[in-house]
Amino acid sequence: MDTKRRRHYLDALGLESWQSRGAGKAAQAAPLAASASMAAPAAAAPLAPAEAAHPAPAAAAAHAVPKDWDGLKAAVAGCLHCKLCKTRTNTVFGVGHPAAPLMVIGEGPGADEDAQGEPFVGRAGKLLDEMLRAIGRSRRAQEPAQSVFIANVVKCRPPGNRDPEPDEVQACRPYLDQQIRLVRPHLIVALGRVAAQRLLATDAPLSKLRGPLYEYGPEHTPVLVTYHPAYLLRSPGEKAKSWTDLKRVHQLLRAGT
Ligand code: SF4
Repeated sequence: MDTKRRRHYLDALGLESWQSRGAGKAAQAAPLAASASMAAPAAAAPLAPAEAAHPAPAAAAAHAVPKDWDGLKAAVAGCLHCKLCKTRTNTVFGVGHPAAPLMVIGEGPGADEDAQGEPFVGRAGKLLDEMLRAIGRSRRAQEPAQSVFIANVVKCRPPGNRDPEPDEVQACRPYLDQQIRLVRPHLIVALGRVAAQRLLATDAPLSKLRGPLYEYGPEHTPVLVTYHPAYLLRSPGEKAKSWTDLKRVHQLLRAGT
């Protein structure tokens, strides 16, 4: 990761000001110096047991979905398979290159996303874009190598921004699974507790899920869990950990994970 990109991301996260509060100059330099190097990820974290990272088979078999990208898009746009169809303004299929090596998955659309039909817009989306830019990725990139595909576990907004309910996740799962099958990412990044728990079929807290590499689906796609950008906006104390995760994403992609 070049210095400019790193600087850009650290600025976006406000890490400099976060580090400068209440510490002497020597103490401030250490975390930045450490983050400047592309250190090895926390020593080859093992893949979690496959059974812990796969959705229940019933969820994936809930309803058939088109196998091609355009058909899938059209099916989502007209979907009535769960109660979220009654309250949505727009479905939010996802955005990015359909052959991106990196797929980022959040929990579900919020109010801005519902209004615009695109995932991760608004403040959290802006921060996500800065994070992705720091590792040379963009949702608008034309070249797969610089691209990312961004999606959510559910494609319609849960009212009041509540967590998506199990039956909604189950109903929407075939769309997400087919997106993963078609994109064939080298790495999936699950953003936040809800996305991670729904993807990995676990109730474990984010603090436990963050760290290991998991695998998802029959393709055994590696999955890394990190913080949701909306959480980072609310909890600046976690920004340095997010930076560590991002460096790891960059390294895994460079290694062709
Ligand atoms: S959330 Fe998914 S399953 Fe439910 S209506 Fe929307 S697209 Fe269909």
